Amino acid sequence: MTPELPDLDALGTRVSAARAATEGRGETFYPGASGIHLAAFPPRERWDDWVELDSRAWPARVERHSMLVPTTCFNCESACGLLAYVDRETLQVRKFEGNPEHPGSRGRNCAKGPSTINQVTDPDRILYPLKRAGARGEGLWERVSWDEALDAIAARLRKALEEKRHNEIMIHIGRPGEDGYTERVLASWGVDGHNSHTNVCSSGGRTGFQFWTGIDRPSPDYAHAKVIYLVSAHLETGHYFNPHAQRITEARANGAKVIVLDTRLSNTATHADHWLSPQPGSEAAINLAIAQHIISTDRVNWDFVRRWWNWEEYLDACRPELERSFASFQAVLRTLYASWTFDVAAQESGIDSSTIAEVADVVAGAGTRFACHSWRSAAAGNLGGWQVSRTVFFLAALLGAVATEGGTFPNAYNKFVPRPIHTPAHPGVWQELSWPLEFPLAQNEMSFLLPHFLLDGRGRLDTYFSRVYNPVWTNPDGLSWMEVLTDEEKVGCYVALTPTWNESAYFADWILPTGHSSERHDTHSYEQYDGQWVGFRQPVLRAARERLGETVTDTRQVNPGEVWEENELWIELSWRIDPDGALGIRRHHESRARPGEKLTVDEYYGWMFENSVPGLPEAAAAQGLTPLAYMRRYGVYEITRDQGALFDRPVPADELTDTAVTATGRVFTAAPAPTSPNIVPTASPPPDPSGRRPVGVAVDGAVLTGFPTPSGRLEFYSSTLASWGWPEHALPGYIRSHVHPDELAPDQLVLLSTFRLPTQIHTRSANSKWLDEISHTNPVWIHPRDATRLGVSRTGDLVRVETEIGYFVAKAWITEGIRPGVVACSHHMGRWKLDGHDAVSAGSMMATVRLHHDGTGWSMRASDHVRPYESTDPDTRRIWWSDTGVHQNLTFPVHPDPISGMHCWHQAVRVRPAEPGDSHGDVAVDTARSRAVYRAWMARTRPAGSVSPDGSRRPSWLMRPLKPRPELFALPDEHARPEPR
Ligand code: SF4
Repeated sequence: MTPELPDLDALGTRVSAARAATEGRGETFYPGASGIHLAAFPPRERWDDWVELDSRAWPARVERHSMLVPTTCFNCESACGLLAYVDRETLQVRKFEGNPEHPGSRGRNCAKGPSTINQVTDPDRILYPLKRAGARGEGLWERVSWDEALDAIAARLRKALEEKRHNEIMIHIGRPGEDGYTERVLASWGVDGHNSHTNVCSSGGRTGFQFWTGIDRPSPDYAHAKVIYLVSAHLETGHYFNPHAQRITEARANGAKVIVLDTRLSNTATHADHWLSPQPGSEAAINLAIAQHIISTDRVNWDFVRRWWNWEEYLDACRPELERSFASFQAVLRTLYASWTFDVAAQESGIDSSTIAEVADVVAGAGTRFACHSWRSAAAGNLGGWQVSRTVFFLAALLGAVATEGGTFPNAYNKFVPRPIHTPAHPGVWQELSWPLEFPLAQNEMSFLLPHFLLDGRGRLDTYFSRVYNPVWTNPDGLSWMEVLTDEEKVGCYVALTPTWNESAYFADWILPTGHSSERHDTHSYEQYDGQWVGFRQPVLRAARERLGETVTDTRQVNPGEVWEENELWIELSWRIDPDGALGIRRHHESRARPGEKLTVDEYYGWMFENSVPGLPEAAAAQGLTPLAYMRRYGVYEITRDQGALFDRPVPADELTDTAVTATGRVFTAAPAPTSPNIVPTASPPPDPSGRRPVGVAVDGAVLTGFPTPSGRLEFYSSTLASWGWPEHALPGYIRSHVHPDELAPDQLVLLSTFRLPTQIHTRSANSKWLDEISHTNPVWIHPRDATRLGVSRTGDLVRVETEIGYFVAKAWITEGIRPGVVACSHHMGRWKLDGHDAVSAGSMMATVRLHHDGTGWSMRASDHVRPYESTDPDTRRIWWSDTGVHQNLTFPVHPDPISGMHCWHQAVRVRPAEPGDSHGDVAVDTARSRAVYRAWMARTRPAGSVSPDGSRRPSWLMRPLKPRPELFALPDEHARPEPR
């Protein structure tokens, strides 16, 4: 049926004005989901038959008719809406453009969105299941059927489960692109086997926010901000790139000031009103000086602080000698940060104190319209980087710019994760390879230490899955990964779920080809403005054929080759593990409508959209559609806007039964928790000794919702950090980085590696020809002064960059876009394939390399470079470049932050002109030295067995993917203390 246009008058005066202006110009108004005029987009009532002229037929005017089918981009975390243009004649996708119905991306995409077509048509992609036919890494494969692969893998998994070897099963996620499906599968298997890439990505950023709010991400309302404060090289060039960037652009047009702290001149920095290029690791010092300025000039939002900070808890714990009054706390706060003068910050950061003062005054004048973010970048680069995020949010908390218009929201307010049809119980095991005792406060799995833990003999893996993940390439110390992945004693079976070849898949036993964004189902939701939406990724050819009246029961029926989507794959694999239901797994993958039959994705998502997305059934019914049909047609549904300060809302009276209130105002209730369709992850504060759940916080005589922290308030003082062995870091503060100037030898520089170009997709760019044509190298940024000092005379000269465990050889780029004393290299390039793998992968965008071990260390050298070649895609004959960059991550040892668990990416390096015989892209690594660095960083930890205040291995309230059952939080017997402290 033809969908109706929305009721424009109901959309408000802003829309009415835009409509009048548009119609005044004689144009047809198309509001899209955003309520702005989107004249350039196909209006949705014409999505069944959209007509364009065929550009290739020009000058002849040949019409092409398309069905426009929505899906969601999978090429970064933003999940922008895409429209697939499905040719009605060939029933193939012609191109991807933006989906104007998407309220987050609003029809816009970055270069990576439309480039999805390259990935789909990539002549190098993997189309059939493959089984290793030689030694691991030998490059010999045989094509097998899905049945053979799944039967063999299921038999292994079943045997491991029957023998109670649950901890030998692990699924390692790269780009999640979905909210919770894989965790649900693992829970159904009873396995604590979820592993993620988060501790090489964003744990440092998350940790600082979680200790404040109990929620691990900010959601800045950029569009309405007066001041935008970004500590990030990555924020607008990779993380929520397009949806955030377009709102920052709007804010700038409305006069907002943008402040960027980034040692490198990033794309974001080029658009800033104030660009600060600090000494890496000093960012928290600048934040603290700004905080001190806000305090000393009395521009603190004192009423907000009084109501919402846990100042009473702070006074009780740290200043019991003082009167317990807000006036006491104000007096203390005025002294606590007094030493953080502009001069001190200038000394640490190398930025002029006058510049810091100028920026501080802009921040202090923002009031409640202060939108801030810290992600990757400094928080991911430095020992103690999580304090960068904690001190960034400190500024928002001082200004009261929390969940205000133009302020910074906790992300849970602007995200919606619908409850699924089946919710398996928490697993009954604890995976110590991911959650070891040394890191009781780690934000996420200690994924990048896995090779070292396996080498330590802490465990083994029977079956290891990687899913859209490339651990050898993505992690630091990738050759240690390669060593364990080639050791069948340590990893019994490696299954790579991947759409494309990658550096890890070469060492797999099975390759299972999974789909790109137009070939798979997922739901997801991300914080991009003050509202909540749910997006639906779908196999577009399946939806197109269903629109034509065909029935599709398996996504392989429409995908290229035998490419499958993961959700159907997981259902099938789970049934094969537990064919008779005896293990209790199958029931979580069974149809409810047809008991005893397999769950289908139509039922899974149909149930979810019918039962767990408020308003969607009604919106669908208004168009005569089922909720699933609505999502197949539009790809997204906006649930709500203008959430506002949810923490300040009263708790409903019916939730206040048999309450108890602590001395600091935490309110507990005996009433059962209401079932919410939104299961967005947040921390889960602990119950009181009587088992009553925390429900709110008493503020000025009312019981308000508060935050999911133990105190219910914003935790200026973290009792968790204090009681888990880190009292010196319980307040927002400054931790000197491992690359602080005092830690560097006179001839060392700091290498920044935590950024990438906005046109690259981590490990899947090599399969996107447009993106590779745009950017295909990663030179080392060197300031002219350093270049002169080091004897690097020209851009393009080769340099050796020496790390603690080896070196890489790259081209120099002499630029004033980097601070003297610091060099930088983007992590997006340096893809390679092993010599001898041509039979299965032309590796068109990868260098061909030879790896050699000489008894003491590894060396890698390119034996061939990218060149034009014959394929089904004529464009591969037009490749004009040969450079593919250098894989620097191989030369980085692991640096686990002892608190957040984040890998601290920055490196202390020596840079010098390349030696005779060096070649661009050369890498040398001594993995024995990487073991020594690993041990040195492990010595910084304070293990749970020594510091746990209550006999548990980790604070139960902290967020954790796939939490095991509560009793699993107890320390193992050999570590348990006789009495809780
Ligand atoms: S920002 Fe670009 S890569 Fe990321 S989801 Fe949007 S279009 Fe895709």
